[in-house]
Amino acid sequence: RNLAETMKKVRENMSHIKHKILVMSGKGGVGKSTVAVNLAVALADEGFKTGLIDIDLHGPNVAKMVGLNKKPVVVEDQIIPQELLPNLKVVSLASFVEEDTPVIWRGPMKTSAIYQFLGDVAWGELDFLIIDAPPGTGDEPLTILQTVPDIRPLVVTTPQEVSVLDVGRALKFVESMKKKLLGIVENMSYMVCPHCGGKIELFGKGGGEKLAKEFSATLLGQIPFDPKVVSNSDRGETIITHMRGSIVEKSFRDLVKKI
Ligand code: ADP
Repeated sequence: RNLAETMKKVRENMSHIKHKILVMSGKGGVGKSTVAVNLAVALADEGFKTGLIDIDLHGPNVAKMVGLNKKPVVVEDQIIPQELLPNLKVVSLASFVEEDTPVIWRGPMKTSAIYQFLGDVAWGELDFLIIDAPPGTGDEPLTILQTVPDIRPLVVTTPQEVSVLDVGRALKFVESMKKKLLGIVENMSYMVCPHCGGKIELFGKGGGEKLAKEFSATLLGQIPFDPKVVSNSDRGETIITHMRGSIVEKSFRDLVKKI
């Protein structure tokens, strides 16, 4: 297939999806995948037809976080996403690569893999597509932003100064691509003390707010830190499905209302 045909297929495929959201971050470890996964599950839980796609070849966390276990099925050029919950279909680019194999792909290879991926997954009609991109401003987010014109970037940060600096770079990148930012999500904003119920600001304060002001962006939400998130996500249990009633879950419900 040549490039023009591939792009036509991508456009056709994306035209059946109402809202496309690219989840980005300035650097790794701020909870980008956690936010992408739980946002998608929360949207599906609210009744929206949602797709979740992981294009991170180097650190494929989404599949693990949602307990994706089957190899994707490919039928006549079409990749069939796994239906994980009612309203939620998931596919991970990493599933096409052998587990434990370090991926050494050069830029152009990554780009063409992403084009194919965007064009070939049989989503059907969707309300939302959540795309988890690798951290930073490399080939993958660049390709997606260029290929899907009406995509809205959502940027995840922690309140910490260094994280905020990195995110500033990602936000400038989004601006330079002339994309309309959906907003900023601050993760690990605080922890609720199990003894007194007070707020503990583990990683400083105000990073998300500061960025939102600087870039005239919306601070969409502040997600608290909860140690259970770590062990749950290692078992493929999401915040939305396995931490019902918690403050972290509530913060995702609030986030969905703002999107
Ligand atoms: P990234 O995609 O930015 O690299 P991850 O989503 O993989 O980050 O999160 C990094 C680590 O932090 C994981 O172990 C994850 O479980 C944990 N984590 C993310 N968000 C939270 C949170 N709100 N509370 C507790 N742990 C979190």
